[in-house]
Amino acid sequence: MDFKAKTQLGTNFVLSILDSITQTLGFAWFMLIVQKYGGTSVGSVERIQSVAQRVYKTVKAGNSLVVVVSAMGKTTDGLVKLANEISTSPNRREMDMLLSTGEQVTIALLSMALQEIGQPAISMTGAQVGIVTEAEHTRARILHIETDRLSRHINEGKVVVVAGFQGISSNGGLEITTLGRGGSDTSAVALAAALQANFCEIYTDVPGILTTDPRLVPEAQLMDQITCDEMLELASLGAKVLHPRAVEIARNYGVPLVVRSSWTDEPGTWVTSAKPQGRSLVNLEIARPVNSVEFDTDQAKVALLRVPDKPGIAARLFGEISRQQVDVDLIIQSIHEGNSNDIAFTVTTPILKRAEAVAAAIAPALRSQSNPKSAEAEVMVEQNIAKVSIAGAGMIGRPGVAAKMFATLAEAGVNIQMISTSEVKVSCVVDAAECNRAVTALRSAFEIEEKGDEEITKDKLIHLSPSSPVCGVALDVNQARLAIRQLPDHPGMAAKLFGLLAQHNISVDMIIQSQRCRMVDGVPRRDIAFTVAQMDAERARELLSQAALELGWGEVVLDSAIAKVSIVGVAMVGQPGVAAKMFEALAQHQINIQMIATSEIKISCVVSQEQGVKALQAIHTAFDLAGSEKFVVPA
Ligand code: ADP
Ligand code: ASP
Ligand code: MG
Repeated sequence: MDFKAKTQLGTNFVLSILDSITQTLGFAWFMLIVQKYGGTSVGSVERIQSVAQRVYKTVKAGNSLVVVVSAMGKTTDGLVKLANEISTSPNRREMDMLLSTGEQVTIALLSMALQEIGQPAISMTGAQVGIVTEAEHTRARILHIETDRLSRHINEGKVVVVAGFQGISSNGGLEITTLGRGGSDTSAVALAAALQANFCEIYTDVPGILTTDPRLVPEAQLMDQITCDEMLELASLGAKVLHPRAVEIARNYGVPLVVRSSWTDEPGTWVTSAKPQGRSLVNLEIARPVNSVEFDTDQAKVALLRVPDKPGIAARLFGEISRQQVDVDLIIQSIHEGNSNDIAFTVTTPILKRAEAVAAAIAPALRSQSNPKSAEAEVMVEQNIAKVSIAGAGMIGRPGVAAKMFATLAEAGVNIQMISTSEVKVSCVVDAAECNRAVTALRSAFEIEEKGDEEITKDKLIHLSPSSPVCGVALDVNQARLAIRQLPDHPGMAAKLFGLLAQHNISVDMIIQSQRCRMVDGVPRRDIAFTVAQMDAERARELLSQAALELGWGEVVLDSAIAKVSIVGVAMVGQPGVAAKMFEALAQHQINIQMIATSEIKISCVVSQEQGVKALQAIHTAFDLAGSEKFVVPA
């Protein structure tokens, strides 16, 4: 990666922010800053005193400050453990009552520490501030933030110390709510948006955002900046340095955001976003789950059916494809009964012939290698297809959104041939003849105004880091995989399945539908596989097994021992060979890929859990992300 160029960009970015601040205010000496300190940063009395010193210095430099804090150290984990000793499924309201206490300790102690050094300060809970949320316990979204009380204290020269991670629900009584684990980041950025603060600083135990988690890969390198889009993917794919919802708010409201170490004065990493259009602060986190409906009719699909389920297959296929300079768009691979997989990908129509030739050339070799007696891998090409997508950060953690897309398509009589998801996008491949109908139905369902031609062009995406196609890699070991065999292949099936999970508030992540269609009992059927959070897995399995019995679906299979490794980067768009490199790195380490799903700026692979860390390290090295220094994260 060209770090010199990036440093230059980073510096320019900071300067341009300062410049615009100076211009708006006419002078540069007054700023309103929101600072957030995470658990380790306030983990002891000494740490709290050190935070107080930093806050004091910032105020003395002429700024007003709102400080958001987390619970001390691992307090929240400790509270969860206590609850689990009493109940295997603790009541969610009581859980919020319990977990919200952690932050309350820190706000009081930090205020005392500030007052002790002569800095007027006042602590406030989420309820006292007026951080109003949905009544959804343990995962509430922020609806709006009242700023009057905060502003009054700020104007009186006080530092306001706010409890992160918590709010108060307005309907259903004044109930204490929490935003979900890691949610203090979200509190901070939401406060910055509501107060129109000049910027928001997230102080943590690493010097900023790195190419991956330094606890797993000590050679990870620090970035000076990253785009919101990239950070959103990284955060939702497991990089817990920022809560994804915090990134979403920063992007929606254009909040300048920086992640820094609370141990040093290093500049940290800026998360950059394009200037957003003015957006209401009402229904802050729930206003619009979907921002756009996109389509692409210039697509064709190539599928390889019955390829052996063993390391190296995807690497061979996509290695050859990239040598032929064929740029692939969506890639999906799904699991199957027996030991064979289907791999499918889409390309633009003009290069279909070349892509098909590569696939056809490689297919016989794939069979003979595994089991000469097995059925030959079969190449299937489909020309008249279109990709229809809904996109928007508001769909994160909201299971109903994908389900609503599937239901809308079903109502419009559109059959879904392929599904591929990222946390912020769901793409479906449909028959080209049905594209218009699909788009019209989706636009009306999600209330998206028609903005002329929304066909996606790849150059719409900005390229900020041209030297490396990948800016970061992430590992998520908290997911489980569910597969349902033999789902009837007709409109409405995906809607029924994911609608059921949505009703029970279970979010689904990677969804992959198999390419192979088989006739069973006179009905064409496909398999479908997807991932859910581990904590939801058992409940999802029970619900689906029940539905399978009632609706005549096949077996429901759960595997909790999986890991998801992902690469993210806006610059991978239009660069052939990125996927091949990732698959090749996994193959070299004998790591079998169980599932593949892609979006424009990320590629995720599911592998076995025990190989997760090895997979992460292999990919990090393959993309030359490793630096020469090793990071030591404070204990
Ligand atoms: P805090 O308590 O300050 O909110 P967290 O533990 O939530 O801190 O987040 C910081 C941790 O995120 C780091 O210690 C690091 O282990 C982890 N992490 C994961 N991915 C990354 C990444 N790409 N860059 C930096 N840190 C990361
Ligand atoms: N204390 C909460 C947690 O540990 C919130 C946070 O720290 O962001 O999840
Ligand atoms: Mg955190």
